[in-house]
Amino acid sequence: MNDTYLDHNATTALDRRVLDVMLPWLLEQAGNPTSRHTFGRTARNAIEHARTQVAEACGAHASQVIFTASGTESNNFAIKGISANLTHKRVLLSTIEHPCVARPAATLQAQGFAIERIDVDYNGKLNKAQLKTQLKKPAGLISVMLANNETGGIQDIAQIGELVKQAGALMHTDAVQGLGKLPLHFNSLNVHAMTISSHKVHGPQGAAALILDKRVDIQPLLHGGGQEKGLRSGTENIAAIVGFGMACELAMTNLAHFSSHTAALRDRLEQGLMQLNATRTSITIFGKTTARLPNTSFFAVDGIEGETLVMALDRAGFAVASGSACSSDSTEPSHVLLAMGVSEDLARGAIRVSFGTNNTLQQVDDFLATLTQEISRLKQLTSIAA
Ligand code: PLP
Repeated sequence: MNDTYLDHNATTALDRRVLDVMLPWLLEQAGNPTSRHTFGRTARNAIEHARTQVAEACGAHASQVIFTASGTESNNFAIKGISANLTHKRVLLSTIEHPCVARPAATLQAQGFAIERIDVDYNGKLNKAQLKTQLKKPAGLISVMLANNETGGIQDIAQIGELVKQAGALMHTDAVQGLGKLPLHFNSLNVHAMTISSHKVHGPQGAAALILDKRVDIQPLLHGGGQEKGLRSGTENIAAIVGFGMACELAMTNLAHFSSHTAALRDRLEQGLMQLNATRTSITIFGKTTARLPNTSFFAVDGIEGETLVMALDRAGFAVASGSACSSDSTEPSHVLLAMGVSEDLARGAIRVSFGTNNTLQQVDDFLATLTQEISRLKQLTSIAA
């Protein structure tokens, strides 16, 4: 079957050039970076080279890069590790954070922390006026994601970070969906910590980073041999880190093309959806009028369950997501859409298409044709059942 992958916000395939630099570290090349012999030093150099590549991809200094094993780990590390040393035990989060930010924050309540939500508007934009009011009381840590994995909506992180800085609090941003899709400049974002992950940019799973301002006092999650300046013990996953470095370098070279190419695909898709809208099918595209990732379109077909449509499209050869891939085992409607004020019914209809550089205009046209067919087939089924 000629399957078409349209789920790049969930994960991406490994780039062959990334595999090539990883292979020696998976096969013949032994060496623990903490060992003093030549093998160990070679491994250490490979990791330091990857650190520079990662730093360059996000406008940071190599010394600010702490390698971890996943975006989930980096977010847990930022939320729990920074909170552990805070004087003001008050943490503010947007209502649309990924569960790997929201859940670690929720665990802090048992330690006496106040966890407060910052609302978003119908387009998913953070309510800055509300944040300003919240910041009038002393706060310790604020976490607002840079780009949402479902809607693709982008926040004004530098402006939000400035407000947080003026209030004397610390700021973390989850930039997992921003890497490789937008220019990232850690040192001009007014944040103290930023999460990125390898497998979203054609790197391997098992590597990620927390970019950290060195002045931030953070507690490690893992204690042991003292790797990563004592902040993340455990023998480094050299192959994955080397692959992450290469993936970052390639993502930077490809950034302008990624942006223009996937935006063209997304615009073609959304033009097609609007044409469908002119027929008797009602389609809502979420966050369309706000700054979004170029590759992401999140929409709902009125009267059809997103899950049902995703399965039907899958049988027809198209991989898309319903709501967030990371919570796809749950049948709850997207918390992001509910936070934006979308009704539960409409939210249940949501499906996400996220393009990559290898997708083509022809695939978009084929997808639209299949989507049209599947919508009318499912509508007929629902009207027969009714
Ligand atoms: N943050 C966001 C916004 C994500 O989209 C994801 C994964 O989908 C993560 C964090 C978790 O990253 P990882 O899959 O590397 O654990």
